[in-house]
Amino acid sequence: MAVHDDPTSLSESLASKATMQIAGLHKFDGFYTPLEERFERISRLARKAMGVRAAGVTLIADDKLWFKSIVGWRISELLLKDSLEQPMIDSGEPLVVLDTLKDARFAKSPLVTGGPKFRFYAGYPIRDATGEIIGTFCAFDTQPKAADETLFETLSDLGHLAERELLTSDLWDAQSQLVRKLGSARRQALLDTLTRVWNRRGGVELLDSLLKESETSGERIAVCMIDIDLFKQINDKYGHPVGDQALRKIAAGVVASVRPDDIVSRYGGDEFLLILRDAAPDHCRLVAERISANMEKTRLRTRQGSVSVTLSIGMAVSDAGKPMTAKKIIEQADQALYHKKQSGRAGATLYPDDIR
Ligand code: GH3
Ligand code: MG
Repeated sequence: MAVHDDPTSLSESLASKATMQIAGLHKFDGFYTPLEERFERISRLARKAMGVRAAGVTLIADDKLWFKSIVGWRISELLLKDSLEQPMIDSGEPLVVLDTLKDARFAKSPLVTGGPKFRFYAGYPIRDATGEIIGTFCAFDTQPKAADETLFETLSDLGHLAERELLTSDLWDAQSQLVRKLGSARRQALLDTLTRVWNRRGGVELLDSLLKESETSGERIAVCMIDIDLFKQINDKYGHPVGDQALRKIAAGVVASVRPDDIVSRYGGDEFLLILRDAAPDHCRLVAERISANMEKTRLRTRQGSVSVTLSIGMAVSDAGKPMTAKKIIEQADQALYHKKQSGRAGATLYPDDIR
């Protein structure tokens, strides 16, 4: 595989459900939520279409900017005053700055004079149903750009797409109750800052809640422990930063391979815990195959050429209506993972069927 770079106090009686979600989105629901493929897709597209180093979608709350999605720049949060977004937000209009050093509003920014040294900025204001700016779509490059009329058009098209995605609520619908229960401040502590998926505590907490719910709903919950094969070798050969990029890419690859209501967490160093809702063993196998196939197609580009990575996956599925704990199902999936590692790696093993 390869790495290229690298809610609400509104009166419910007055507002429709959709409007409620949209109007309250920036305050509680969207802030500190995990990586979602639909936003990653827009950021990736933006990098190609605009020819920029980094692009992302942000949400604004108080004095903070949270990167709901970002590709090409390792960042998750910034104070608004330290970001490049303020002039665009103040004007309320999309903004393209071809050379930040030649624009007094940008030239002294720490992101221009130091750090990533951004010389190009483009930003689009994302508004909620009331017209309030709740976020931004933004693109950055380390080189200044020549005037190009298509740039502004592409910025507006992509900004519009990002806005549409933010105003629909797949994640909040799918993971809404679980996610809302956690609250924004708590969620922040439950996200992994490197990969932007849930961290170990987040994954286990969500798994516990899902298993408890499943006792009455009869839903079967599947757990996949995903461990990168021979990951130490990548670190040793290409260095830790490339290893970090690989971890980000693999986390995003797993998220892109599953449904929005499935839960991805970084369980340990190079180990991910994937929780599938309403999943029978056959479905679980299909998902594991899809993840492995997507990983095969992914190119991790390094200075020394492109690298491919395989994954070992251990899976366990709860029985409908039977009590199960997070600890126990994780142990079962771990046993299956261990078995896979012992029997050649690269592929998936289901507990208990495949390890007898
Ligand atoms: P195996 O196929 O048996 O899993 O082999 P492995 O080399 O992947 O072995 P193991 O899973 O035990 O090693 C995990 C490695 O992941 C060890 C550590 O160097 C690396 N690692 C853990 N956390 C990070 C991180 O945050 N960044 C980077 N770059 N590497 C990490
Ligand atoms: Mg490993």
